[in-house]
Amino acid sequence: MPKLTVKDIEVRGKRVFVRVDFNVPLDAQSQVTDDTRIRAALPTIQYLREQGAKIILASHLGRPKGSPEAKYSLLPVAIRLAELLGFEVPLLPDCVGSAVEEKVSGMAAQDVVMLENLRFHGDEEKNTPRFAADLARLADVYVNDAFGAAHRAHASISGVASLVQPAVAGFLLSKELDFLGSALENPRRPFVAVLGGAKVSDKIKVIENLLSKVDGLIIGGGMANTFLKAKGYDVGKSLFESAQVELASELLDLAERSKVTVHLPLDVVIATSVQDEEGEIVGLEGVPTDKMIVDVGPETSDHFAKVVSTARCVVWNGPMGVFENPAFSVGTFRLAKAMAESTAVTIVGGGDSAAAVEQSGLASGMTHISTGGGASLEFLEGKPLPGVEVLTDKLGKGE
Ligand code: AMP
Repeated sequence: MPKLTVKDIEVRGKRVFVRVDFNVPLDAQSQVTDDTRIRAALPTIQYLREQGAKIILASHLGRPKGSPEAKYSLLPVAIRLAELLGFEVPLLPDCVGSAVEEKVSGMAAQDVVMLENLRFHGDEEKNTPRFAADLARLADVYVNDAFGAAHRAHASISGVASLVQPAVAGFLLSKELDFLGSALENPRRPFVAVLGGAKVSDKIKVIENLLSKVDGLIIGGGMANTFLKAKGYDVGKSLFESAQVELASELLDLAERSKVTVHLPLDVVIATSVQDEEGEIVGLEGVPTDKMIVDVGPETSDHFAKVVSTARCVVWNGPMGVFENPAFSVGTFRLAKAMAESTAVTIVGGGDSAAAVEQSGLASGMTHISTGGGASLEFLEGKPLPGVEVLTDKLGKGE
């Protein structure tokens, strides 16, 4: 980890601005339905508190349109956090402004407050210098523990961090970067990546980047259909991207030249619609024009499980089928099971794959489940994350 972390700095009595990712799902009664992201930030909050910091938590929630909307208030999150921490976490009325500055200046060591939703200000996403400066006025030290938002160059992610020094990583961010970083830079081999999900076009850069790093690439889900089409199979009315067929073919050639074994489905589950109550297992030659591929078949799952069982490092992003429908979740859950049973280092990218692993009850069998879908995807693409780039370098501190 080339960046400073909370462990490297002195925070006693200081105002520490902690960017967290508390963008959690809420139900119609505004109750938090999944507090994973809140729990994931607890180690950093608890550590800073033990060190005597004044902790100012900042997050976005949902997609308000740049002005306050009651349904996007962070109040339910502050309540849930208070339950988890066992003490009160006041929610301030806004995230910037004189009332907020006054409250913060009255904080004592070990106090924890939460700012109201950053996205109640359109300037957050625009990263305007003025808004970043307004946030920076609240802080002596900046901590980013929001891996799920680290790919966004927003004011609270990059703007403030460039104004407040030191700007360091929290435990969650460092953990994410350590796992994903060591998998990509120094993986145990064989290193296998599993890619699924809807579209090839979303994952082209990931495939291109991974082809220079992995020994094997498993492709399932809707995106496999475009590769099957490139190999000359008919995919009926399956989701596939005709504009990407040629590129899929080129990627398969590139994989061959890079000596990467690509594992595509051997059999598939077909249905009339993604809402069907059951599907039919067929070979690759058996997809009729009026049916769509909705999951990988059992022979494929066996094969993918075997590849995973002989790997020593596996990174997974994207479901193997339309797993939201239990009838077509078998391939995704069988992959999760194979990963959980494998002795390999197993890393699950956030988003749908993480949700599928949670649903399957196999989360404890994985080495690491990322809290950031978009961020982990950009990391796998090899892109620098703005929220990480801006943090203070360890070397810059004379180490
Ligand atoms: P992504 O966000 O790209 O990881 O895509 C996730 C979505 O891909 C999920 O909502 C799945 O339902 C969908 N998906 C996976 N396999 C298929 C398939 N064979 N056909 C249509 N959608 C699929």
